Amino acid sequence: MLAEIITIGDELLLGQTIDTNSAWMGAQLSAHGVRVHRITSISDEAKAIQAALDEALSRVDFVLMTGGLGPTRDDITKETLAAYFDTQLVMDEAILHRITEWFAGRGFEMLEVNRHQAMMPQACKVLVNPRGTAMGMWFEQDAGQKVVVSMPGIPYEMKGLMLEEVLPRVDQHWKLPTRYHRTLLTQGVGESFLSQLVWDWEEQLESHGVSIAYLPAPGQVRVRLSAVDFDPVVAKERVEAEVTAFLVLAGNHVVSDQDEGLGAAVVRLLTKKKLTMATAESCTGGAIAASITSVPGSSAIFKGSVVAYDNQIKQSMLGVSDEALQEHGAVSESVVRQMAAGARERLGVDYAVATSGVAGPGGGSIEKPVGIVWIALSGPRGVESKCLNFGNSRTRNIERSVREALAWIIRAAK
Ligand code: AMP
Ligand code: MG
Repeated sequence: MLAEIITIGDELLLGQTIDTNSAWMGAQLSAHGVRVHRITSISDEAKAIQAALDEALSRVDFVLMTGGLGPTRDDITKETLAAYFDTQLVMDEAILHRITEWFAGRGFEMLEVNRHQAMMPQACKVLVNPRGTAMGMWFEQDAGQKVVVSMPGIPYEMKGLMLEEVLPRVDQHWKLPTRYHRTLLTQGVGESFLSQLVWDWEEQLESHGVSIAYLPAPGQVRVRLSAVDFDPVVAKERVEAEVTAFLVLAGNHVVSDQDEGLGAAVVRLLTKKKLTMATAESCTGGAIAASITSVPGSSAIFKGSVVAYDNQIKQSMLGVSDEALQEHGAVSESVVRQMAAGARERLGVDYAVATSGVAGPGGGSIEKPVGIVWIALSGPRGVESKCLNFGNSRTRNIERSVREALAWIIRAAK
């Protein structure tokens, strides 16, 4: 089953609004066995809407649109669709009642343009939107062979309509196979390295009815395995068998066997193992701590952090020695090891991770170039340290150092 998404709105083309609707809808539709074949963004123009619909319907049987349903003059989707499906707008008394109540409930004055929002195309099934005044529409063509759905552009209203009205109708209208997928998180290796590592295995995936997708981000790659089948048990079994095989091949590169971020993976693992952690951060400025504390339930495992930016703080709060700082400087192996050991002892945790580096873009020297980051982990097995260098972008350095630190904790505590 193929579908296309058309997002309508001048603001999308001008770069004022990012089309997040399509991404969200794509994920939802895929989970319902509908494959999105193409996404198009167009302006609030009748001609553009008609042309986009003509083209999409020549390729697929299901078209979902968002946008252009507001009460203002630039919102013309409803009128255009009524003309397209050769039907007229009629007052829907039930919807008018809803909109009137909606305004009364908020104490806003209802205007003529709002009354007009209750005028619905006669030929469509109205999808009631309890979150706003623009209703959704479900049009059928060729005795239900082709379906066009129109929803408001406001993401929260669109999501409500999708979950409560559109997706249940999709399940009813078409008997679709179910899709099962698992997403695994790998860290520290690039997409091409990973693909090389599992080359032979990947080659036989298709004949097993399983597809693979690599979703790379700086320092990490999410690997998604999926299968589609009318029998949900079969789809699940197929994917799970390949997940097991992948875990053997990719081994320690996998830091989570669930679809979650590294922070969430750390919290889940340490909670399970009843372990605690803390951070002592110089160049990452608390970013490691923030990626832990943004996860619900992190208080079970996270004790605290010392953002030791200044040398004096490294000494007084973490017990870093004067000699180490004098002899090797703040960005050095001996200092970062002392930071980790000091944090572990003073904050009383199982694991403490420390960072000290030259995040850039300035501040480098020949022996300590921009991008150099020392990172240390102090745990029950002692202190370990390593040196990283991710180049001279400050944000990227911090981001990758954070991911490196989180993955290290996972590998150590596993
Ligand atoms: P509309 O239904 O055209 O009145 O859309 C109302 C608002 O929803 C717009 O002003 C945008 O802020 C937002 N919006 C519209 N389309 C999208 C989209 N594709 N992704 C995210 N937000 C959108
Ligand atoms: Mg609009």
